[in-house]
Amino acid sequence: MPRTVVTGAAGFIGSHLCEALLDAGHSVVAIDNLLTGDMANIAHLRDRDFEFIRHNVTRYIDVDGHVDFVLHWASPASPIDYLELPIQTLKVGSLGTHNALGLALAKRARFVLASTSEVYGDPLEHPQKESYWGNVNPVGPRGVYDEAKRFAEAITLAYHRYHGLDTKIVRIFNTYGPRMRLRDGRAVPAFMSQALRNEDVTVFGDGTQTRSFCYISDLVDGILRLMTSDLNEPVNIGNPHEVTIEAIARTIVRITGSSSRIVYRPLPVDDPRQRQPDITKATTLLGWTPRVELEEGLQRTVDYFRPRVMA
Ligand code: UDP
Repeated sequence: MPRTVVTGAAGFIGSHLCEALLDAGHSVVAIDNLLTGDMANIAHLRDRDFEFIRHNVTRYIDVDGHVDFVLHWASPASPIDYLELPIQTLKVGSLGTHNALGLALAKRARFVLASTSEVYGDPLEHPQKESYWGNVNPVGPRGVYDEAKRFAEAITLAYHRYHGLDTKIVRIFNTYGPRMRLRDGRAVPAFMSQALRNEDVTVFGDGTQTRSFCYISDLVDGILRLMTSDLNEPVNIGNPHEVTIEAIARTIVRITGSSSRIVYRPLPVDDPRQRQPDITKATTLLGWTPRVELEEGLQRTVDYFRPRVMA
């Protein structure tokens, strides 16, 4: 039975990953310092082959016994989180990735890095292919996340090239679903909590900027395929269905049956204009395609948020 360490295990994506790994027969060692993660996301896994270690991975990571995979998911990940936690974001992307790679090397485990479409910054190439080097402002407010993840990619490939470690890098595009934090400031949870309370729905800028939203189960499927592949270069995983932020706000108002109005607020600094993954690589090399349509995924997410907003 494979034994897998997941850092950031109590987060939105981390918790879904742990669950999928357990379902696939893995024994899971979950690590999280609960800075932005929540024990409620993993409470239901307690009775399974699941061990939780509360630890900040910017410090040395100690895990007994053999390990087959190290999945490095720990990081603040929403724009509000990394604006409020700039140093922690830089440290977990740099020191945390170094420690997670060190663990993988010591155990001769495979390593998977959670990277991000933010490495492309405000992209000048559209849609974004893995070969695009990006357009990132290193000293802007988002630079703490973007540069931490760019460093994380660089050190991951250095461990692959120098130490021969089997490493993978997944560039995750906007993902949504149950267990997102209601107040993490991202578009989908923000619009859902506002719409469910019949409050104004706050679109930043004029709402013509675009994103491409992937449902969590599709993302996890892509990560599991990448984990066991022989690829070492970065792979985009995301849903290429691109929508404007205004359109997703309107869809959420409609499916929640809300009486909310859309209001416009200033656009955050360096907010990317457009984002859409080119998923040719994942499709051809991993046989992966996203399956959950936007409305269906949003409906499942509303079902999760509704009782929590009303509580
Ligand atoms: N956004 C918005 N209203 C909100 C939260 C976000 O209009 O209450 C916009 C944000 O400016 C960006 C898009 O929605 O253009 C997606 O933002 P999010 O924070 O979800 O993630 P990002 O893709 O920017 O990392």
